[in-house]
Amino acid sequence: MNDNKLNLILKLLVIYLALSVVFCIFALFYTQSVKTDMENDRVENETKIAEMQMPELSDKTKGNNTPEPIKTEEDIIALNGDNMTEPNTAQKTVVVLDAGHGKSSSYMSSDEKTAEGYEYNEDRGSWGEWRHYKNGTYGDDCHGSGCTLTAPSGGSCWYPMGNGDRDTEPDINLQNTLAAKRYLEGMGYEVRLTRTSNEQNPSMNKRVSYCFPNNDITRQPDAALYVCIHSNAGGGSGTSYISLEGAYEQSLIPPDYAETSNTAGSIINGKVAAASGLHANGAIGGEGYLILFNKCLVPIAYLEIGFFDNSSDLAILNSSHDEIGRAIAEGVDEYLSSVQ
Ligand SMILES: [Zn+2]
Ligand SMILES: [Zn+2]
Repeated sequence: MNDNKLNLILKLLVIYLALSVVFCIFALFYTQSVKTDMENDRVENETKIAEMQMPELSDKTKGNNTPEPIKTEEDIIALNGDNMTEPNTAQKTVVVLDAGHGKSSSYMSSDEKTAEGYEYNEDRGSWGEWRHYKNGTYGDDCHGSGCTLTAPSGGSCWYPMGNGDRDTEPDINLQNTLAAKRYLEGMGYEVRLTRTSNEQNPSMNKRVSYCFPNNDITRQPDAALYVCIHSNAGGGSGTSYISLEGAYEQSLIPPDYAETSNTAGSIINGKVAAASGLHANGAIGGEGYLILFNKCLVPIAYLEIGFFDNSSDLAILNSSHDEIGRAIAEGVDEYLSSVQ
């Protein structure tokens, strides 16, 4: 290798090193510059986000205490998306339909009676249930003392289940009830039945429990109305409802309980009369001692639809379940629309 060649290699090496140093310095400056830009952007963005997230704070510092607008139901649905798109089954208005009576006590075994909520009373020698709750309690039977109400004249706190035995009536009540259920469900109500066949005869305690979520009487009742569907007997004709008329003093019930119950009964009874052709008798008054009235926190429309022991009423009853059921549903809907 000669000196010229060595010189050239050395020169090239120096140029290469010089270029490398320039490149490194440039790269270092460039990186710093980008970092600073990003940092500036970040600070700027965070400030923007902070401003967007704290309108209340900004408003307060300006002395403006305008409250945030209340979210509308549409906003909440939009926010929750799919969670709310199912039909609001939990928000349906609940109506309890009670087809009065049922299987006669003489056809029921002791196990059946117990399962339906009755008890055997050794002192009185009968199956039945206590008519009242103790004063100031809900769900605690009186057991003959400390009653919310006085016993009916000639009666007692104990209600023997044989008193509720009927022959023709249970199926009439059930057919009217099932028809009413179909129409109410068509209108969007949630319907609970206290019995679904003539093989059942639940106690009043058990029937009333359907006013509560999952039959749990330790919770708040969630039913809007309890409709008692009976048919009358004992000489007469036409359709009626039983009103409470001041004979009712159960504790823990809403103060307008009797009034709202009577209004519901009156409206529904009017619809039933018009739809069936049964004579409209109106109210049967002064029934403060019915076990059901003593046990229910929810307003009761107590219907006595026609007289099943009157042949012309019975002919109407046997051929008009659908019309009667529809009239009950329309009456329930009219009443509930007026109070909601
Ligand atoms: Zn009592
Ligand atoms: Zn009855």
